[in-house]
Amino acid sequence: MINLIHRTTTGREETDRRETSRRIGRSRREFLRNAAGVALGASLIGGSPFLRGESGARKRKVIVVTFGGGARDQDTFAPEGQENIPHLLTDLIPQSSFFTQVSNQGILGHYVATASLATGVYETLNNFSAVPPQHPTVFEYFRKDLKRPSSDAWVVAPSNGFNRIGESDYRSYGPGLGAQVVLPKHLLSAASSGTSADYGHLLRDNYETPLYTPRIQGGEFELQQLDTILRLSVGDFMAHAKALSSPDELSMYIVKRLMRQESPSLLWITMHDIDVAHSGAYSLYVDAIRRTDRLCSELWKTVQSEPEYAGNTTMFILPDFGRDADEDAGGNGFQHHRTGDAASRTTWMMAMGAGVRQGVVYDRPMQSIDLVPSLGVMMGFSAAVSQGKPIQELL
Ligand SMILES: [Zn+2]
Repeated sequence: MINLIHRTTTGREETDRRETSRRIGRSRREFLRNAAGVALGASLIGGSPFLRGESGARKRKVIVVTFGGGARDQDTFAPEGQENIPHLLTDLIPQSSFFTQVSNQGILGHYVATASLATGVYETLNNFSAVPPQHPTVFEYFRKDLKRPSSDAWVVAPSNGFNRIGESDYRSYGPGLGAQVVLPKHLLSAASSGTSADYGHLLRDNYETPLYTPRIQGGEFELQQLDTILRLSVGDFMAHAKALSSPDELSMYIVKRLMRQESPSLLWITMHDIDVAHSGAYSLYVDAIRRTDRLCSELWKTVQSEPEYAGNTTMFILPDFGRDADEDAGGNGFQHHRTGDAASRTTWMMAMGAGVRQGVVYDRPMQSIDLVPSLGVMMGFSAAVSQGKPIQELL
């Protein structure tokens, strides 16, 4: 069982957690300063780096990438993990504002945690059921306040269990105001109906409960997405999919197509290969981290080469949460995220591109629910129900 219980922390646990977070932040900061030559942004520099004004706001694009289903600090940005993320470290970090202590205090299940990232509220929905987020998503805030069409907000999601992520059922938001969601695996199974054996390596839906396979209607809609939206023939899609080695690569293929054809202003991509760690094979987990690292770098290159995105895009990369510490007796190290310890809750976030200061590290603690209100200030909508706080260093 994966941890779905939000543990009540005692005072002692809370003190321990803070101390661990502080140490993690300090070692990561020192490491980054040495390895990537970045500066420490201890205090705010005056004046917003953001381009203001209507024309700037209309062109502004934001891409959010969740870095795998649960990636630990020590396997990524901590000194011993550095070899797994060469692209983030050498290409992206020098261009980024990097936040070393982002904690997720919610439920550590991938769907519910991603929903929380997208609403700015720690959602309490059942991770393994096809229910919408309980609070308005960033997509609804964005589309409602800025009067944007549905083609302007998209989610590419790793598992059929994420099919409701685009839209809440919150009163005065909800139906008709959310993001369009592409489920690349569902697309592939619709396109390959009857011959899916060839694509087994791409179709695995989640790494936690083989018994949970949400049933989603249809296939017609997916084929229409391929044809009219992505402008991709079934034959070309299948041929290309065959050459790919993982579900996240399939997602990235779809993302690039979507950027070219629809150029959404708000694009959310959830990566999930890293969650293969549940199998217990450390080498597969590390391979997936390395792949995710490469895909993030490729995506940033695509941003630079697409005229609709180059120069006006801000990209955020952050894990949904971490994984258990090796020394926590209640867990099994990297394999799961069930203890709710500091290692499984403490992550990082990088922001880069339009309006973001380059090569600066910020050490203060923040929470993953702070993302949505920050996007609100940047893009000009009100994240009215969100419980996070705008990240001043980005504004
Ligand atoms: Zn997991």
